[in-house]
Amino acid sequence: MKLDVEDRACRRCGRKMHICDHRRHPIYTLEGPRELVCRLVKCPDPGCPGHHGTVSPERETAICLPRSILGWDVFCWIGHRRFSRHWSVPQIRGELQDSYGIAVSEDAIEDAISRYQAIVAAREQDLELLAAAYRDVDEVVLSIDGLQPEKGHETLYVVRELTQKRIWFGTALVSSSAAEVRQLIAQAREWAERLGKKVRLWMSDKQDAFLSGVAAEFPGVPHRYCQNHFLRDVAKPVLEEDSHAKVRMRSKVRGLRAIERQVLQEQRAAAAAVPGSAGDSLAAPAPPPDSDAAVVLDYCTVVKGILNDDQGGPLHPPGLRMAEALGEVRQSLDRNLEVKKRGARNGR
Ligand SMILES: [Zn+2]
Repeated sequence: MKLDVEDRACRRCGRKMHICDHRRHPIYTLEGPRELVCRLVKCPDPGCPGHHGTVSPERETAICLPRSILGWDVFCWIGHRRFSRHWSVPQIRGELQDSYGIAVSEDAIEDAISRYQAIVAAREQDLELLAAAYRDVDEVVLSIDGLQPEKGHETLYVVRELTQKRIWFGTALVSSSAAEVRQLIAQAREWAERLGKKVRLWMSDKQDAFLSGVAAEFPGVPHRYCQNHFLRDVAKPVLEEDSHAKVRMRSKVRGLRAIERQVLQEQRAAAAAVPGSAGDSLAAPAPPPDSDAAVVLDYCTVVKGILNDDQGGPLHPPGLRMAEALGEVRQSLDRNLEVKKRGARNGR
């Protein structure tokens, strides 16, 4: 496919530019490989500054990315498979090879993915689109968060707006100094100002750099600990304490098996005493419902269930639930004993 520069007038002097070179640019498209032959032009006047550089055909960038071997269709296909379908890079590479005969390295695919991300990010940050998303919003709530995927790597700082649930922007900072962080917060202020929106609240995990940055750029705007961060910070000690408490409770509530065994032995003995019954079999017959034995076994089952229940996060610590449930069992036992005592007093 031969491509020509459409606007042949020199940008500097207006003379008609001449073809000076051809550049062959092989690319992959989903319909097969193509070769773009770009006819480069430059100004013929050696005295014109336009003589020293060449101009490439305009259409080239409509077919593929600059200096890329991937056509836009392949590029979009990769971005879609990665971000909508969550395919891995090797999976994308294999499918390009198998279905389209496109043999590219994983590096090339990773490069395409990062360019795709940059384009998506640019779209997210487009002021007109942003203004449209915030047309019906009077006030915004901002949060800042530092994400460190791996220890020792740079931290990715992300500023999010919570009423519309949008990521406004993110930047990786190596040093994470208060001055660097403050720049991000200043950028957020510029965004809010450009949108003409009042910032009602900031939320973060309140690390020092966030505190000083928000105080400096947003005087008077409240800055709150967000629940997620708060939980993240208190969860560990709470769950540790909770786990100790569980161990202590489990060590106190013991002997369930012995009680069960005793009840079942008594059942077996009672069954054996009845002539013609299967009392000699090893399996103990289930005690009749409402009998003392059945009640005791039910209590054992309930208590075992309580001791084995490990469900619940920091908001509903399992040990706390265990303590409450065991307390209810105790109250229930006390009620039974009370009834029994009263019965005994009444001569029953
Ligand atoms: Zn010129």
